[in-house]
Amino acid sequence: MDFRILTIFPAFFDSFVSHGIMRRAIEAGVIAVHPMDIREFADGSHRITDDRPYGGGAGMVMKPEPLTRAIAAAKEMMPGSRTILLSPQGRPFKQAIAGELASLGGLIFICGRYEGVDERVYAHIDDEISIGDFVLTGGEPAAMIVMDAVTRLLPGALGDETSAQKESFEDHLLEHAHYTRPPEFEVETVPDVLLSGNHGVIDAWRLESALLRTLLKRPDLLGAKILSNREKKVLEHWRDTIEKIVST
Ligand code: SAM
Repeated sequence: MDFRILTIFPAFFDSFVSHGIMRRAIEAGVIAVHPMDIREFADGSHRITDDRPYGGGAGMVMKPEPLTRAIAAAKEMMPGSRTILLSPQGRPFKQAIAGELASLGGLIFICGRYEGVDERVYAHIDDEISIGDFVLTGGEPAAMIVMDAVTRLLPGALGDETSAQKESFEDHLLEHAHYTRPPEFEVETVPDVLLSGNHGVIDAWRLESALLRTLLKRPDLLGAKILSNREKKVLEHWRDTIEKIVST
């Protein structure tokens, strides 16, 4: 998977590509990350990429000419890729969208700055993604978040291929609780079942843990989940238990 990032701060990505899974994925040829400096597509010796908004008001707007030239150049290098504008006004980024993007051959990210991009740039983009209902100063951290979430879904990016499949948001659940050594820490001990070596019982415990955590932390996810009879029973049990605790 090739990523091209259109930005006025290409150095922002130096650290991002130098550590952990991203670095390993690059070394393994799973991904390639190419920041492209929008200024190189701007006119004049000052390479200006922004200007004052028509109609007045505070802030600057990213000019359409350098951006659309940069988009055209990136598209030429990566035919068939999807061009994504990072924007607080885009569709909210979710694990399912990471999965959708991971099935594509290449992604071009446009990182806005200031008040955002000139409206006429929209004619050159395929998708608009927001990483949440808050406003960042620029699209670069958002592009990193999307690239990170997409990369870990690509075959060969993670050491253990299965670990990306059992995580939170798969099948509308949060992931179960985790424990590692030591078996006793402060006042808590590791649940006996996890030390039993019985994988059937451990799987059952993990499912119960995932259901409980989702019920407590993100009950909204359960609305979209098709529950088995066993899952229904587990949830009923926990709902009853919680009700009793709350009413005492
Ligand atoms: N004036 C814009 C508005 O109110 O919708 C906000 C512009 S913001 C200060 C500058 C840039 O940061 C945006 O063009 C976008 O690229 C990026 N950005 C800010 N918040 C974002 C978010 N929640 N998700 C993705 N990108 C974001």
